[in-house]
Amino acid sequence: MDELRGAGIPFHEAVTLLAWAMDCDAGEVLLREPAPEQLARYRSAVGVRKTGFPLQYLTGEAFFRTVRVEVGPGVFIPRPETEVLVGWALRHLAPGDTVVELCAGSGAISLALAAEGPGCRQYAVEVDEVAYEYAVRNLAGTGVDVRLGDMAGAFLELDGSVDLVIANPPYIPAGAEVPPEVRHEPERALFAGPDGRDAIAVVATVAARLLKPGGILVFEHAEGNGGLEAPEFCDVQTLADLAGRPRFTTARSVVAINP
Ligand code: GLN
Repeated sequence: MDELRGAGIPFHEAVTLLAWAMDCDAGEVLLREPAPEQLARYRSAVGVRKTGFPLQYLTGEAFFRTVRVEVGPGVFIPRPETEVLVGWALRHLAPGDTVVELCAGSGAISLALAAEGPGCRQYAVEVDEVAYEYAVRNLAGTGVDVRLGDMAGAFLELDGSVDLVIANPPYIPAGAEVPPEVRHEPERALFAGPDGRDAIAVVATVAARLLKPGGILVFEHAEGNGGLEAPEFCDVQTLADLAGRPRFTTARSVVAINP
């Protein structure tokens, strides 16, 4: 269809936008004729997409591993590399484990863990009110305990009892160049201090407090900006993303030896 091929955006994006405008599945767009108002809606969305506005903000949804999350302006759009982080976490979870997600954003990580995990007690915290509202909607009915607030003081009642802490914190160095599309996303979900490690430092401090001895921390970071030097952690490992770039750090909470 000329509308799709000649849209001036990638074909699969055009299909996604037409399906959204026609309120049908992507597979159906070639089988049906859009109504005039659906075509107008599609054309206007294509125009907005051409300005660099994210596709997922137009359709209001993003897909992450096996789940779908609602997204929109004001909340970070989940990325494919983070699917690898969740895959690693899933291989380290056992039924009944206690899991805490820090910097939860839309709640995509927690939702995927709830959908694919072995049945864990899950908690998530998000500091931004707009993002928190998305997380609440996305995690409705999952049993995940989602809270609004600063991770620094979150879940004090869980101190020393958590099996796994997971986070995709903001980690882009402040002032770094990002693609035009990324500039539509909330700054506080992206940038974290001059070296991109400000939020990671807080994540490590909070994880050290929450984790039980031998518990696991896993977090995403900028390429080559991983590792963790803290006396509370051992077995520090950096793992690669889909493109083979160092993107995740995992560590184990040390088992305290009483004198
Ligand atoms: N991976 C994201 C990007 O490059 C950044 C994610 C983050 O800061 N947590 O746009």
